[in-house]
Amino acid sequence: MECEICGREIKGRGFKVIVEGSEVTVCARCKEHGAVKPEKIDQGVKKLVLKKKQKLSRPVEFTEELIENYHLIIKREREKRGWSQEVLAKKIQEKASLVRKIENAEITPEPEVVEKLEKLFNITLREKIPEIKIDLKKTNLTPTLGDVVVIKKKKR
Ligand SMILES: [Zn+2]
Repeated sequence: MECEICGREIKGRGFKVIVEGSEVTVCARCKEHGAVKPEKIDQGVKKLVLKKKQKLSRPVEFTEELIENYHLIIKREREKRGWSQEVLAKKIQEKASLVRKIENAEITPEPEVVEKLEKLFNITLREKIPEIKIDLKKTNLTPTLGDVVVIKKKKR
């Protein structure tokens, strides 16, 4: 059996990974270039696997980032309900000063705070950004570093 990315002979069974949405069998080295296929598991575990990978700074297909103008959206949702920053702070069990800083975009809220705001307002403040893409067609099956295209969105 040959690796479907580098063409090398695979010793043993090889690894199944997802590249550009399709499953390919690759060698141990190329395994690092794709997202490992999650075992038949529920959403919760899948998310956990993804988080773990991000911590190890290994390639992942998607990463979650705060949307642009998230602070304006929070402010708008709060004002729509006629709440002061203090009221909102109490509802998410945070300090009013934190709410003020978030709305002024002085700080980036912690994921836990973002989650609380999303639940409270029933909105989404994050979006999934594709982080790493492997172009198999272009690489002629011999990937080099330059072939890994990073399209991570730049932060302000
Ligand atoms: Zn390989």
